[in-house]
Amino acid sequence: MTQEHRSKSGFETRAIHAGYEPDPTTGAVIPPIYATSTYKQDGVGGLRGGYEYSRSANPTRTALEGALAALEEGERGFAFASGLAAEDTIVRALCRPGDHVVLPGDAYGGTYRLFDKVIRPWGLEHTPAPVHDTDAVRAAVRPGRTKLVWVETPTNPLLNIADIEALAGVAHEAGALLVVDNTFASPYLQQPLTLGADLVVHSTTKYVGGHSDVVGGAVVVRDLEVAEQVAFHQNAVGAVPGPFDAFLTHRGIKTLGVRMDRHSDNAERVVDFLTSHPKVGDVVYPGLETHPGHRVAQRQMRRFGGMVSFRCEGGEEAALRVCERAEVFTLGESLGGVESLIEHPGRMTHASVAGTALEVPADLVRLSVGIEAADDLVADLEQALG
Ligand SMILES: *Cc1c(COP(=O)(O)O)cnc(C)c1O
Repeated sequence: MTQEHRSKSGFETRAIHAGYEPDPTTGAVIPPIYATSTYKQDGVGGLRGGYEYSRSANPTRTALEGALAALEEGERGFAFASGLAAEDTIVRALCRPGDHVVLPGDAYGGTYRLFDKVIRPWGLEHTPAPVHDTDAVRAAVRPGRTKLVWVETPTNPLLNIADIEALAGVAHEAGALLVVDNTFASPYLQQPLTLGADLVVHSTTKYVGGHSDVVGGAVVVRDLEVAEQVAFHQNAVGAVPGPFDAFLTHRGIKTLGVRMDRHSDNAERVVDFLTSHPKVGDVVYPGLETHPGHRVAQRQMRRFGGMVSFRCEGGEEAALRVCERAEVFTLGESLGGVESLIEHPGRMTHASVAGTALEVPADLVRLSVGIEAADDLVADLEQALG
């Protein structure tokens, strides 16, 4: 699909067609898995279609990268071996020792570990700030030194909402770039680049891939100059996905729109059920009017997605019991797949932040609501809570 055609079509059309034209030789409708590391040259330096070596580019990955750029309405998309590999490449491309970044106060644990344990010793300082408090983020910025303002929205597992447009203003006032980790929303629900963000990063392991069968990451950028920096580092660092992984991620993308609608439908049913259950305390979902970020979420998201957290009246023991008794909801970490997952953040995904400012309530349960029949999901929670 041409660039012009792409920007005029709807999201689901782009998800299915962007990045690839049926193969001119065979007519293959789906990008083949090019399991090759190198390419025959037509004379020295005579590259066919620019392909030289598969760390630099591979046609299966090129198709995926075209789709990623089209979905986020960015200038260029880049695929990586994992979400963390994508994040690491952004930092190497855009920061130098002595620089500073602002991080989400409740960042994904792996992101915090990367910045704190791996990158900080190389001389990049960071300040955590709550993403739902624009003034607090502004106060954490050090004009002249801050290169990146990094946010997630919604955050994990408390689903705080960052005002992307306002934070783009905060970053740009200080000469910094705004990076949005769009993993929890997916580009179907929210397109940060259209709201002023400069880079979007994904763990495509989650909703973008959507089937819990492949680990991957993505970066999409709005500006050509930044794109060139990321492109150089993607090749120079080499944290790229192989063609099999690129194929699986791209296959997942085709159904992203229908999956996210179904995730959102099912989450709404589950939230309805939980809010009226006597053994359930606070229900955390950006779609609820009682959620402090509801208005901002309503402005910048198409719908509110498949992640739901709730607190149990019976405390930690009750929360652990629900996790263990659930059957259709599988007890496990990660999120964003077609299957519903349940977990206890305090003992599982967030165990490493116990005793710090990031500690989560012990009675909290997190759901990644899948796309099974909603009646079965509600019945499962009912028996697990009973
Ligand atoms: C999972 C996740 C990551 C890390 O991605 P990997 O693919 O596991 O490396 C980053 N950010 C968020 C919000 C995530 O959920």
